[in-house]
Amino acid sequence: MPNGRETSHRTRRNLLAAGLGTLVSCAAPRSILVHEHIFVDFAGAEIASPSRYNRDEVFATAKPKLDAIKKLGCIRLLECTPNFLGRDPILLARLSQSTGVDIWTNTGLYAANRYRHLPAYAKVESALELSRRWISEWRNGIDGTKPRFIRIGVNEAPLGEWDRKLVEAAAITSQETGLTIASHTGRGAAPEQVEILRKLKFPLEKFVWVHAQNEKNHKIHEDVARAGAWVEFDGIGPKSLDWHKQCVEHMAKAGLLHKVLISQDTGWWHVGEPNGGSYRDYDPIYKDFMPLINKNWWQQLLWDNPNRAF
Ligand SMILES: [Zn+2]
Repeated sequence: MPNGRETSHRTRRNLLAAGLGTLVSCAAPRSILVHEHIFVDFAGAEIASPSRYNRDEVFATAKPKLDAIKKLGCIRLLECTPNFLGRDPILLARLSQSTGVDIWTNTGLYAANRYRHLPAYAKVESALELSRRWISEWRNGIDGTKPRFIRIGVNEAPLGEWDRKLVEAAAITSQETGLTIASHTGRGAAPEQVEILRKLKFPLEKFVWVHAQNEKNHKIHEDVARAGAWVEFDGIGPKSLDWHKQCVEHMAKAGLLHKVLISQDTGWWHVGEPNGGSYRDYDPIYKDFMPLINKNWWQQLLWDNPNRAF
């Protein structure tokens, strides 16, 4: 049995811990960033490779930026760089371990940017064959890390054969693995993807329309959200605060805030540039954007919705 002195010590310690807990949670509510990048290589599928950069250099530059958002409450970051564009699960695992931010990687392929990031096999294989590759990455991991979402990219409407094939492959993969699809969507191509997925009887709550901010017609944001898909407004930054605020407020007014995701789509180490070029910070969303919107929406946009979507 503890003596009186120990009890009072423990009580004081517990009170202190409880007080600190409240303080920490007030100052930094927990959050998830659903679309950022640590490393991207735009050289093309034939050229991009880990031999083009030094992991230690990228690590040293990325770490303080991740430490900064960890202090602001960031628990998890979805690293959205697809395969053949610099996806590097070894680097991400190292950063996760050292910063305490849970960094997720992805499976899938990117047809956007006129197919220059598609490997040759993706052009000839069927949707089913591609899905087998992605499902295998999920089963066996990629360099020791399991992908936690499906990342594809499609060009502007009307979608080409290869774009449509990736959407179908993603749907098959999602049905097998339960992973959510986040699709980088070229101009006007959201309704077409929704149509493809509907024909496959795919549950649209497992589909994220990435880059919805490029669509200026709020009616289409509403339609896609009402169909059940997630509408993600990316690219929050100093020049876009008004537009992003308007998008979020419009969706809230339409009763659709529960289908909205937001991101900066920022960061990253630029291959071939000294010190990784203009690697931007991940904290403006916390410092510049969130204070502009209704405080009651914070938890929904940065925690509840990301958790439900992925
Ligand atoms: Zn991105």
